[in-house]
Amino acid sequence: MIYLDNAATTRMYDEVIDIEKDFEKKYFANPSALHSFGMDVENKVKEAREIVASNINSNSNEIYFTKGATESNNIIINSFAGVNNKALTTKLEHSSVIDAFENSNFKKIGFINNDEFGFLDLKDLEEKIDKETKLVSIIYVQNEISTIQNIKKISEIIKSKNKDILFHIDATQALGKISCDVKDLGVDVMSFSSHKIHGPKGIGGLYINNSFKNKIKPLLYGGRQEIFSSGTLNAPAIYAFAKALELSKEKEDYSYIKNLNLYLRNKISDKFKGYKINSPLENSSPYILNISFEKIKSEVLLHMLESDNIFVSSGSACSKGNNSRILSALYLDKKYMDGAIRFSFSHDIKIKDLDLLVEKLYEYIEDIRKVF
Ligand code: PMP
Repeated sequence: MIYLDNAATTRMYDEVIDIEKDFEKKYFANPSALHSFGMDVENKVKEAREIVASNINSNSNEIYFTKGATESNNIIINSFAGVNNKALTTKLEHSSVIDAFENSNFKKIGFINNDEFGFLDLKDLEEKIDKETKLVSIIYVQNEISTIQNIKKISEIIKSKNKDILFHIDATQALGKISCDVKDLGVDVMSFSSHKIHGPKGIGGLYINNSFKNKIKPLLYGGRQEIFSSGTLNAPAIYAFAKALELSKEKEDYSYIKNLNLYLRNKISDKFKGYKINSPLENSSPYILNISFEKIKSEVLLHMLESDNIFVSSGSACSKGNNSRILSALYLDKKYMDGAIRFSFSHDIKIKDLDLLVEKLYEYIEDIRKVF
């Protein structure tokens, strides 16, 4: 299998599967229980919290586990919704941000302008912040096209206008891949997820700077286990997630992935006509490469590739069936809209896999273009 859909989700590390399985067997008590068995589990959760905190340079009491980035994003947006509050965001957000905003009652939701690669217009950001702005929410690494925003600079702009504005980033495609040092980035709140970094699904979290803690409201009420998200903790998944994060750091596959990305870019440039690379070359995550091929329907190509056990994505899995909202926001020429394919890499991919991919892509694109 050639799995090039790692931005949708990843294969768990074998080591992490073993760790989670072992945990399920040994530490099945409820970490909220008062007995020593429960406390053993609580200590494991504490260890996981410390691992995540040290990875992002925060205190461990600023880490809250959730069911994933969707929940984390919803917690933050819901906390600030209100008829007197304004928020600023971008057209490049994941649906868990856009949809949460659309279903909220903010006085106004402003969108910061972006260029054709998705980079934000920082002057526009500055101009759009006003006295009623309470929240700015920005995607750190864009999940369809890989664009990395200059979070540090954005934070400086926001804070120079009003330090009480809460600055939230969605770091789902960034954690474990590029620096997510919250102090260096200058963010108040950050969402992240486990299953994008070879950890289990259904687990993720939020970093909340202690000084903003009292401004965040729970999304789920109950036992207040993680304050903002009640429910019995999924301790095995939490622990496995932390171990996946630790491993992703140890494995240091960034340069390997960057090489794969450049190799595929070059191969496509050498061999193909009528294509456009939608991912920027600089300030982009090498884990994602989005390319549009003229005169093809990406869904047709995707299904042809799957017959060879090659798995890619057309746009993002979360916008299944719809014209990509993200590509529309990039002013992409209509001729490139239908044929966008997202290749997203992991350490499992070898150069010879990309050679086969390019061979198949060439063959199928020729075939499709003959028919249409
Ligand atoms: N934000 C971004 C940028 C994502 O890529 C995703 C996953 N597609 C999410 C949020 C949602 O994450 P989760 O699956 O953990 O809810």
